[in-house]
Amino acid sequence: MTQDKYELLRDVFGYPGFRPGQEALTDALLSGRDALGVMPTGAGKSVCYQLPALLLPGVTLVISPLISLMRDQVNALIQMGVRGAYINSALSERQCRKALDNACQGMYKIIYVAPERLPTPGFQRLAQEVEISMVCVDEAHCVSQWGQDFRPSYLKIPEFIAGLPRRPAVGAFTATATRQVREDIAALLELEDPEVVVTGFDRPNLYFGVERPKDKYQALREFLLNRPDRPGIVYCLARKTVEEICGRLCSDGFSATRYHAGLEAEERQRNQDDFLYDRRRIMVATNAFGMGIDKSNVSFVVHYNMPKDLESYYQEAGRAGRDGSPADCVLLYNGRDVRVNQYLINQEEDKQELDPETKASLRQRQEERLHRMTIYATTLECLRSNFLRYFGETPPRSCNHCSNCLYRSEMVDLTQEARSACAFVGRNRSRVGLHLAAAALRGSKENRVVRLRLTADSDYGSLGHLSLERTEALLRELIERNYLARDDGEYPTLTLGSEARELLSGGDRVQVNLPKEMKPDKPVPTEALPADPELFRALKELRMTLARKYGVPPFVVFTDTALREMSAQKPRDMQGFGRITGVGEVKSQRYGKAFLEVIAEYL
Ligand code: ADP
Repeated sequence: MTQDKYELLRDVFGYPGFRPGQEALTDALLSGRDALGVMPTGAGKSVCYQLPALLLPGVTLVISPLISLMRDQVNALIQMGVRGAYINSALSERQCRKALDNACQGMYKIIYVAPERLPTPGFQRLAQEVEISMVCVDEAHCVSQWGQDFRPSYLKIPEFIAGLPRRPAVGAFTATATRQVREDIAALLELEDPEVVVTGFDRPNLYFGVERPKDKYQALREFLLNRPDRPGIVYCLARKTVEEICGRLCSDGFSATRYHAGLEAEERQRNQDDFLYDRRRIMVATNAFGMGIDKSNVSFVVHYNMPKDLESYYQEAGRAGRDGSPADCVLLYNGRDVRVNQYLINQEEDKQELDPETKASLRQRQEERLHRMTIYATTLECLRSNFLRYFGETPPRSCNHCSNCLYRSEMVDLTQEARSACAFVGRNRSRVGLHLAAAALRGSKENRVVRLRLTADSDYGSLGHLSLERTEALLRELIERNYLARDDGEYPTLTLGSEARELLSGGDRVQVNLPKEMKPDKPVPTEALPADPELFRALKELRMTLARKYGVPPFVVFTDTALREMSAQKPRDMQGFGRITGVGEVKSQRYGKAFLEVIAEYL
């Protein structure tokens, strides 16, 4: 192989450079080492194994749980000029045999395969006959019982690898970042001293919002009207809701389609394609839709119901803005969603043929995750900071790009108030709880305040200018930052925390995220205007024509980001065209002339 990894990245994939984490994972796999990549959806996991696959001898197997995922990935590879194939139950017996024969003759560099296929005789023959230099496990969290998508067939993977004539490098990739799942992946897939890369989970181009509308449908309708022509997904918990919402949207004149596991396979495929090929703008679906759908121009993901955990939420919401453009992720929350999820957890338990102990602990984990999701849906703190902490990061306290930071809460300097509160607690150590302290600080005349003579304290009433909600929020914040502490005696009371001295001696400043006291503004839709709208539109039309001609979804030809860049840079020759992100050699040859013509005509 004469090309090096940078050339391949540029010429085949059309990327100007590696994104964070990609190079370390690529290098590890290239040197024959195992690797574990934990990156959020849209970060670019596929190139981490596709690129080494092209440089290593023999063939790479990619084990992947979903048929639609394989088809799209392989289509995209073929578009880039890479010899790829997939083997799964979507192929007929004959097609399957043909693919295996081709594979045995070394026709492919990358083969996607469903885990259930690994033990079959045809596949076992392949495994013995061709050199498999790398095995990559996509959506690797499916191996863990603690993950949100446990698949028992994933547990068979190590056995398959152990049966190979030579142990290949093993790569595992997931977007699920909790430590337990990560450890499970390494242990259950028997990774040997893997290079572990966990990249930041933040996706700065995504706006996060939680709304609690009285009428969810009207809120959705308004949201969609604010974003004419933008493609996006609406997730619902139940099939029934999908049917209802899709029906209402269609009769309200929106271009919508639907997807859930209760539809015939043929309709599912058709509806999915309508969305992928930009024939329908809105996909209304249950969580059955989307794993592996990497339509890059999804501009919003609305959750009509709260999903069962933050892992699912972030994975589904993360399908927005994969091309790096600004996109909106909005959850329409209602307390009923919690009960429906609880019901679903109970249902699931009935179905599992597991021993009672495992059942009980699985259920407990699910309930904990649901609780954590509910906190996200109801918190006042920065939403981004809330989920990033769940994924093990230490983000800034405020992102200024979520509904809480922008509309529901504000950072307020409460240093003076914090000092008063600490001084008050210092004088009344272990006598008052949080609510009573808040009441006294605000100057309440309620019975217990008077009885405990808190009215005589020098800080009685000193926080009278704050609402009760704000005062309690301040006290909770002071506990979290160790200025105050809880004293869990017979009744939980407050005492001074380890940092109190610093605050009382005038050292620290205290800024707190508090509920806004004015009426929240309406969220403004995020706009991602192309640099030159008219040219962008012309390029999109050409892309649609080419996509039809080659029978692939438009984004497989070029992503919206690539078109936007073209419309901004207006390249005049092949060289300039080749510099656009996402334009590799094969695509340049295949499409360059046509796109350059449209640009020239426009100029
Ligand atoms: P994941 O599997 O992590 O969800 P993908 O592999 O599907 O992500 O990549 C997401 C998007 O990022 C794709 O549109 C891909 O073309 C783009 N991408 C990946 N790596 C790079 C890179 N190094 N430079 C530019 N774009 C990239």
